[in-house]
Amino acid sequence: MAICEVCENDYWMTFEVRTVGGGVHTFDSFECAAHKLAPICEHCQVKILGHGVEVSGRFFCCAHCARSKEGTEGTQVRDSVGARPS
Ligand SMILES: [Zn+2]
Ligand SMILES: [Zn+2]
Repeated sequence: MAICEVCENDYWMTFEVRTVGGGVHTFDSFECAAHKLAPICEHCQVKILGHGVEVSGRFFCCAHCARSKEGTEGTQVRDSVGARPS
């Protein structure tokens, strides 16, 4: 048994998430894990739950948001290679 560090629920199916920096966090749900750990898009402020885009240490939810940062490599980011199904 362990207690979720976000909502303090004492739950038998809590799980741990280890971060790159060596931190260990305990959660009772993926929602609580995302609340605590998911990066936030610098352009639209949504929580990034998928792969997202990282440009020069900044996080964005998609290529459109990455391109919003003028003067960075983000302006080169594309979600697709341009091919469309006909
Ligand atoms: Zn929780
Ligand atoms: Zn965004």
